[in-house]
Amino acid sequence: MNRTQVPQTIKDLKAGGKAVMARALAAIEQAPDSDEVIRLLDEAWKSPHGHVLGLTGPPGVGKSTLIGSLIAGWRKMGRTVGVIAVDPSSRRTGGALLGDRTRLATDPEDEGIYVRSMAARDRLGGLAGLTAPAMILMRAVYDIVLVETVGVGQSETDVAGVADTVIFCIQPGSGDSLQFMKAGIMEVPHIMVVTKADMGARAERARADVAGALGLSEHLPAGEGSEDVADWAIPVLKLSAAQGEGLEELLQAVDDHENWLKRSGMLEKFRQAQGQAWLRESVREKYGTQGLKKVADQLDLPPGASPFSRLWELEHSGVLAGGLEK
Ligand code: GDP
Repeated sequence: MNRTQVPQTIKDLKAGGKAVMARALAAIEQAPDSDEVIRLLDEAWKSPHGHVLGLTGPPGVGKSTLIGSLIAGWRKMGRTVGVIAVDPSSRRTGGALLGDRTRLATDPEDEGIYVRSMAARDRLGGLAGLTAPAMILMRAVYDIVLVETVGVGQSETDVAGVADTVIFCIQPGSGDSLQFMKAGIMEVPHIMVVTKADMGARAERARADVAGALGLSEHLPAGEGSEDVADWAIPVLKLSAAQGEGLEELLQAVDDHENWLKRSGMLEKFRQAQGQAWLRESVREKYGTQGLKKVADQLDLPPGASPFSRLWELEHSGVLAGGLEK
């Protein structure tokens, strides 16, 4: 494999370390339709390994600090971690971004952590376009994939489309988060976290407010065919990343949610729906609503089928011929 080659297999990707991961992600950005990228994504889709977390919340709530602590916690447990930090500022400038995101200081020598910043381009409706393939690739390699986004407006619903477990962070003393939860703008996350618990009474009040706003009704059902699995009751936690308090409870809640998703069969269902949504959005992006109509009956994926090879097949079958018809 020379410097510019895309790794051929997930085994190559695993063996190659961060440099090869960086090269594969660059290929996804630069040549998403190439045969070798599709082949690699296909294999990654069929061999999911890690659990995917979405972490969201307003700027300043303490996400970067918390991620630093979470990474340390997972590394201590021997788990490997991939982070995708989605920078929304690029939505305005259209440019590449690093800036603020480089705050996430990790040990460059540690092959068990890989951090990647991505632009939340408007392409494919924001987060899903490039983030989903990057996440799927990283999921095949790392034990945990954490996708971080700034929670403004609709971006929480985006992260819900790529993450198995969504964590929403709330700042003590801010009413904002509650406002848009009540307004129903946000999809209900799986775990709520009040940050900066060292702020004392204000943090406890925020926790009680959130718990009250969620009420007893906020249980996520286990879904059809899993009646013996209890609903998921959304935990409302309080932690201080700065003082290292409450982190274990969060790590435990994440594991509990992962187990719940597996036991209830929701994980597979969710991931299949996610693949289908990606396929649909990709067709819409490239061929417009006319294109979508042409292949409407071919967008259903049987369990396990890869959205990447289905897109490739549709594109090479001639049925979408005529190119962009937005
Ligand atoms: P982000 O914008 O959500 O990534 O937030 P940051 O992690 O950059 O934190 C924003 C500010 O909150 C910084 O000044 C942090 O030092 C501070 N901060 C983060 N975590 C804590 C905490 O647990 N307690 C307190 N008191 N401050 C914190």
